[in-house]
Amino acid sequence: MPSVADKDDDENIIKDNCNDDDDDDDKKKKGLKAKLSARYVPHIMFEITSDDGFRILSDSLNRAWKAVTDKVKEVRSMAGLKPVSYAGLTGLYMSGLDQPTFTYLLEQMPECRNLKNYQFRHHKDRWRADEEELIENKHGCARCEPFTRTKHKNDMFSFLLSTYRIPPAYDPVLSKSDENLTANIAQRRSLELPMAMRFRQLKSLTREIVGVYRSSIHGRGLFCKKDIDAGEMIIEYSGEVIRAGLTDKREKMYEGRGIGCYMFRKDLDHVIDSTVMGNASRFINHSCEPNCYSKVIHVDNRKHIVIFAQRDIKRGEELTYDYKFPIEEVKIPCLCGSRKCRKYLN
Ligand SMILES: [Zn+2]
Repeated sequence: MPSVADKDDDENIIKDNCNDDDDDDDKKKKGLKAKLSARYVPHIMFEITSDDGFRILSDSLNRAWKAVTDKVKEVRSMAGLKPVSYAGLTGLYMSGLDQPTFTYLLEQMPECRNLKNYQFRHHKDRWRADEEELIENKHGCARCEPFTRTKHKNDMFSFLLSTYRIPPAYDPVLSKSDENLTANIAQRRSLELPMAMRFRQLKSLTREIVGVYRSSIHGRGLFCKKDIDAGEMIIEYSGEVIRAGLTDKREKMYEGRGIGCYMFRKDLDHVIDSTVMGNASRFINHSCEPNCYSKVIHVDNRKHIVIFAQRDIKRGEELTYDYKFPIEEVKIPCLCGSRKCRKYLN
């Protein structure tokens, strides 16, 4: 029975890729090895020997085993035996290298991580996982590391996006509860009061009737916590009043800091910058079919921008108004999702 070996002292050696019969010529042997080495570096040499003096040396396992089967055919023919087919007997099969048990063990060898063209049968993800770099931490254990915020550090309102802040549920039946009715009566009464008086009590009213929650239109939005009647004052658009010429400079400054910019044009000369000094009104999103509108009112000889309800608004509804941006070439897509959506804000 032939066996795989690494001896080099057999007289009956058959050299693959070589025609010479002079096996005793050491020089030629060395020359062949050198030739093969030069041609296939790095390479594997396969050697099959048997106890009766047969030996084959080849860099191809298939060719090595073909030499064996050819020799067997020759001997059988000489002995007058029937010819036997060896079709399909590959070198891997004859050596047992295609056996799952063998490949399972072989694929675990550390050098296998360097194989680029081999299709792994049993450990497909073993070396791939190793390639992914592990996150290092100074103390060797993640539990010893201080907690670092995953939210954007420049977004001072990121807490308002928390999924734990549940917006008031929209339910027309529930919103007619006693509590709401009481609030509505008080608000309705306020509609009969002069504008200045209503404005002065607006701050305390705003806190009760609106809240900031995650919006389906964009980021955060202002939501109605109690039913609001048409024409009711909801919130003042407050902030720092700046000259209109300063807006570009401010925008660039906020952009540089990675801060979202919130501004509202008060009149031709003045803009309200609510980015830092504003209230919840800055989160009111645009809609092409809004339920609120903005209006400039005069109180104590000062102009104020106030958001009013355009129609009756139910608890749980998001408050929106039309930003009325001028038409520009660079378009800002609108995400309001209303039936009358104009597709762009500008
Ligand atoms: Zn729209």
